[in-house]
Amino acid sequence: MINVTKTFFPPIEEYQMQLQRIWSNQWLTNRGELVLELEEKLKKYLEVNHILITNNGTIPLQIALKLLGKEGEIITTPFSYVATTAAIVWENCKPVFVDIHPEYLTIDETKIEEAITDKTTAILATHVFGNPCNVEVINSIAQKHNLKVIYDAAHAFGVTYNEHSIFNYGDISTCSFHATKLFHSGEGGALFAKDADLQHQLFYSHNFGHNGPLAFYGLGINAKISELQGAMGLAVLPHMQTILSERKKVVDFYNTQLDFDKLKTIKIRSNTEWNYSYYPVIFESEKKLLEVQAALNQMQIFPRRYFYPSLNKIEYIEALEMKVSESIASRVLCLPLYVGLKNAELHQIITTINYALK
Ligand SMILES: *Cc1c(COP(=O)(O)O)cnc(C)c1O
Repeated sequence: MINVTKTFFPPIEEYQMQLQRIWSNQWLTNRGELVLELEEKLKKYLEVNHILITNNGTIPLQIALKLLGKEGEIITTPFSYVATTAAIVWENCKPVFVDIHPEYLTIDETKIEEAITDKTTAILATHVFGNPCNVEVINSIAQKHNLKVIYDAAHAFGVTYNEHSIFNYGDISTCSFHATKLFHSGEGGALFAKDADLQHQLFYSHNFGHNGPLAFYGLGINAKISELQGAMGLAVLPHMQTILSERKKVVDFYNTQLDFDKLKTIKIRSNTEWNYSYYPVIFESEKKLLEVQAALNQMQIFPRRYFYPSLNKIEYIEALEMKVSESIASRVLCLPLYVGLKNAELHQIITTINYALK
């Protein structure tokens, strides 16, 4: 069986070596030695000013919205994983959707200004599939209207834009280190703030607001990660180069072998160093998608409909139309992409798709 993704497992000895340290330390959570080391290593690897490792990629969105969204209207993308929208609703903010660009698949920055009202507090956009939003234009809109910018960068580990980490853009960026993501610690994630003061607030927010054992800096929640997950992160990180080059091979193969008369893939924004995190293909119609999906399933190949439905269509959202996002969501399929995907399997995937498209 071939799934859309497969978790990268480092050699077990390397994980055990990290676990050994935990047993020696007799220390399991609350920012132990391994988590602190992982933070330092990630800070260097990603070339970011600040980083705070968290328990997943969803609570960071909630923390960012708690601090910057303040129960106002949040301008957001309908084309993302459900966590982006759910976090907004969970934090008693109101999602205000703005449609996406048909090729980049990120929020259409030219439509943001018309969605701003006096209740708007922030923009929460997703660097979907690791493709950067138009961060310059979004930044100038935010400046002009005094709004905060949060990026859901769950897909964007290692992506650089204009030679800077994508995590350095916006007031706060969040990432996910979930087992299915490019870099992972089993479960995990991170928060990145633009300035030290905001990073300080994030730090307190992620640990119940504690300022020492007896005092509190403000309202907080628990977004801490354990040493066990830190161990996985430390065991996976040295393999990033392999992970990226293996994934690039798969992407290059799809790029040269797919029949692009009958489908399209994502357009990556220029000046981006991409991370090969997903391979979306967009068919001419949902009918075509369903035919190709059925043919692949027959061969025990299971791509995923990332992302369907368009998030303006989920049941707890007021009905409204997002033409481009709904159209893309109905026609997009993410193809298998992971370390260890064999050449024979790739050939089978390509042959099945191109045949079904005939
Ligand atoms: C995976 C993902 C999340 C949530 O991350 P978790 O670590 O699973 O909580 C949020 N946003 C997007 C776009 C994602 O793909």
